[in-house]
Amino acid sequence: MSLLRFKMVDAAINHSAVEPNVPEGRPSDYFAAKVFNRAAMRKYLDKKTYSILLETMEKRTPLPYEVADSVAAGMRQWALEHGADHYTHWFQPLTGGTAEKHDAFAEPDGAGGVLEEFSGKLLVQQEPDASSFPNGGIRNTFEARGYSAWDPTSPAFIVDTTLCIPTVFIAYTGEALDYKVPLLRALTAVDRAATEVCRYFDKNVQRVVSYLGWEQEYFLVDESLWAVRPDLMLTGRTLMGHESAKNQQLEDHYFGAIPTRVMAFMKDLEYECLKLGIPVKTRHNEVAPNQFELAPVYEEANLANDHNQLLMTVMDKIARRHQFRVLLHEKPFKGINGSGKHNNWSLGTDTGVNLLGPGKTATENLQFVTFLVNAISAVYKYNGLLKASIMSATNAHRLGANEAPPAIISTFLGSQVSAVLDKLAAGKGDGAIRFDAKNIFKMNGISHIPTLLLDNTDRNRTSPFAFTGNRFEFRAVGSSDNCAEAMIVLNTIMAAELVEFRKAVDAKIEAGTKKEKAIYEVLKQMIKACEAIRFDGNGYSDEWKTEAAKRGLDCENSTPLMIDRYLDEATVRMFSEQGVFSAVELEARAEVKWETYTKKIQIEGRVLGDLTMNHIVPIASRYEALLLDKVYKMSQIPGLNAASDIALIKKIQDHTASIQRLTEEMTEARKQANRIEDQRAKAIAYHDTVAVFFDEIRYHIDKLEEIVDDQMWPLPKYRELLFLR
Ligand code: ADP
Ligand code: MG
Repeated sequence: MSLLRFKMVDAAINHSAVEPNVPEGRPSDYFAAKVFNRAAMRKYLDKKTYSILLETMEKRTPLPYEVADSVAAGMRQWALEHGADHYTHWFQPLTGGTAEKHDAFAEPDGAGGVLEEFSGKLLVQQEPDASSFPNGGIRNTFEARGYSAWDPTSPAFIVDTTLCIPTVFIAYTGEALDYKVPLLRALTAVDRAATEVCRYFDKNVQRVVSYLGWEQEYFLVDESLWAVRPDLMLTGRTLMGHESAKNQQLEDHYFGAIPTRVMAFMKDLEYECLKLGIPVKTRHNEVAPNQFELAPVYEEANLANDHNQLLMTVMDKIARRHQFRVLLHEKPFKGINGSGKHNNWSLGTDTGVNLLGPGKTATENLQFVTFLVNAISAVYKYNGLLKASIMSATNAHRLGANEAPPAIISTFLGSQVSAVLDKLAAGKGDGAIRFDAKNIFKMNGISHIPTLLLDNTDRNRTSPFAFTGNRFEFRAVGSSDNCAEAMIVLNTIMAAELVEFRKAVDAKIEAGTKKEKAIYEVLKQMIKACEAIRFDGNGYSDEWKTEAAKRGLDCENSTPLMIDRYLDEATVRMFSEQGVFSAVELEARAEVKWETYTKKIQIEGRVLGDLTMNHIVPIASRYEALLLDKVYKMSQIPGLNAASDIALIKKIQDHTASIQRLTEEMTEARKQANRIEDQRAKAIAYHDTVAVFFDEIRYHIDKLEEIVDDQMWPLPKYRELLFLR
């Protein structure tokens, strides 16, 4: 192997497990030690301040300005005592990551010393000079002001020595420039709509909370090897690399013993997470070599999403301590599984009822079916939009590949729930829902209703939106995504659907139908109308693609074209009626999505061009020159046959010539695309005319990797990258 590659492989082999920083003691000793949570608030705030803040957090009432100063004082005290010397507004711009700008607490006191200052004003609102975050044209540079404002519903926390205050990020003119604003709006919308519907069943319900439990998949690679793969470094994925002879075909990695180095990393990571109040619970090997998963216990969606964002940053940092790099890209390696981030989603009332879980009484079960049917009906109506919410240049590699859900949204309900809905739709009169002894649903005459026990082993891992007993699991979300995007769409379409539902039921009640019967009748219609979204078969199969198209489901798989779904007339109206996005905000976000798509493909194109011309072609040519030399020398000695060497030379010639030609064509296509001003058209051009070269060029490179002397090959190979011990 090349000297550099040899050195790096050697270094990787010699990296041994780093002792994790985890102290003695139990998680309960240090859980949320770095979070300004309720316990800390109670201790550091006076009674009155605490109760007002609590009210704000629970009822989402505005925090009076005067109170902010007292909160800030308490928070500062807590932060200083916990080792913080800086503070930052922590927000989630449309770059997909998180942003922070640290300021020191220390301020000159005017008498030659410093004082630790932190006022309510600094806590509540700041004006970061954030003009270069993506904004889709909402802020022209001459009006580059954006504000960050405190979100009291997500507690402040300390990372290293910085107090991080979760904030929203908005334009001077009020438009959302981040993920948090629309997420909070969507959560409000679904709370409002769901609470109203709950009142059909229980007058005591005051509030409905949306829950999110994410499962984060990721890859780890050794840092030394990562450092000599410019494609991994710059694009997060390998743009070339022949498949390893052994990869995941033996299925020996999934749930297998966790490698020692990785275990040390996981322990460290979990410790950091627990201190930050992230309730991590599950860790295991995933299907592909070097692929792992971490999942916490579900939380209220806004907090859960902040925790996921925080996790992604913390992971990266801890990985470096262990001489790893975390790959959050959805498809870092060809030929093995990619990574997703399943979003487990449910709604629950402040009276403690999970609206997507079957209940104990007839009323509870009717309520459960009501929310279930509204969910699938919403997903049916907006299946294209829901898909758009998770589509990106990177996730596009995963969806539709044979291990992940296809680029078509459908719902899986399992045999029991399906049976209930079918019976309900066929419904003879207003039957109640119950199970017999074997847990089989039966529709009876009203009243006698035993507990519903759903067998949640009834699973379909090929479904992008599967019901799993007490929640839906949206499995198409990408591993690098901000979950907010999916949660915004899901909660908003649910809100819109519940509003429609309520209107329909109320109309029937006003016309004299009894409430329960009215609900049944409306549900019946809905179940029939959204039948096309229900699919319990194999989502990976080709037949499903044909079938889904026949059913009228959105089958588009070009990312730039999918972004159009955000701007459909019905979508714009729905978002604005629910108070989640204005038309301007939607247009701006679509612009940002197109622009981001273009940039990602542009970077990949550049890296690929650079690697082919500076790494691959020169090495292949050098090997070819050796062969040529050999053949020439052989020709000097009578009786030697150089035919096989000549054939090899020809192969190398063919591949390098193809690579050079295709790279030139790709560069030309990029130049053409770059001339396009309109962001949508440009993204389409990048999709249709630039990205199409990637696999073709890769094909020839991977062929060369098989031919060229291993001693010369410059880039670590899959077999070296993929098998951590
Ligand atoms: P899986 O079998 O899908 O891998 P896991 O137990 O790993 O399941 O993860 C499931 C995730 O779903 C966890 O984050 C869990 O807390 C979450 N979850 C469980 N119940 C609910 C619910 N009612 N609403 C939302 N999330 C939930
Ligand atoms: Mg899961």
